[in-house]
Amino acid sequence: MNISYDFNGSTVIVTGGTRGIGKAIAEAFLRSGAFVTATYAGNEKAAAEMRAAWPSDKFEAVRFDVASYQDAEQFFKDFDTRHKSLEILINNAGIRKDSVVGMMSEADWSSVINTNLSGTFNMSKFGLMRMMGKRYGRIINISSPSGKMGFAGQANYASAKAGQVAFAKSLSKEAAKRSITVNCVSPGFIDTELLADLPADLKEQYKAQVPLNKFGSVSDIANAVLFLSSKEASYITGTVLEVAGGL
Ligand code: NDP
Repeated sequence: MNISYDFNGSTVIVTGGTRGIGKAIAEAFLRSGAFVTATYAGNEKAAAEMRAAWPSDKFEAVRFDVASYQDAEQFFKDFDTRHKSLEILINNAGIRKDSVVGMMSEADWSSVINTNLSGTFNMSKFGLMRMMGKRYGRIINISSPSGKMGFAGQANYASAKAGQVAFAKSLSKEAAKRSITVNCVSPGFIDTELLADLPADLKEQYKAQVPLNKFGSVSDIANAVLFLSSKEASYITGTVLEVAGGL
């Protein structure tokens, strides 16, 4: 049986919502009746495809860098001119720049921390302010098993992803009195463009570590995100839902 959700009347922001996992999350919300604002960093082709696929009274795609505090603040000022409220924020935008620590450039350290972790802070700070008055909201960070286990070559990414979990746990305690829940979904290996640069043999090695012995799909992640975003999940906060095939 398919679980169906009714997000009619909800406005949802999905960062990095025009490709990969974010696109699947955005489309799952759209199919469930929500208005979705998908943000993106620079891939105009992917954004144009989404704009062509969905009506403008249900969907918009907005380009800015989530790593920039000023750009996030401006995005929300503009958002307020088009929308009365924000119910759900999905902090999904993320990048990887893998390298062993001894060879890692300061730029690769900073850009991964700034996009994955500071981006989560920037968006959550301004998003939360729009949820507090209504005493309702859902914030979900897309973290990673890398943040819990650590992977060689991913000190920057793992640190950012662990930080997203700690951030969610802290914010969940601050936001609870307003009935706003803050959680993480931790996807296992999902075959998107994020993993496109991995050599085939390394992908096979990763797959062998997964007890369910396969990579997950973007819809596996979207299903978990919609559940945690639903009214039915109102007693779940400060937690991490691992959708990782047992990894
Ligand atoms: P993709 O590379 O397929 O998509 C990333 C998305 O994030 C794109 O829409 C991209 O925009 C956007 N983005 C990147 N940087 C920025 C930025 N600075 N500002 C705004 N938007 C930005 O990634 P996935 O779909 O695979 O990953 C989504 C999330 O899931 C990430 O947080 C990732 O860490 C996490 N994750 C993924 C796993 C996987 O196996 N794929 C496993 C565990 C976690 P644009 O299209 O313009 O480039």
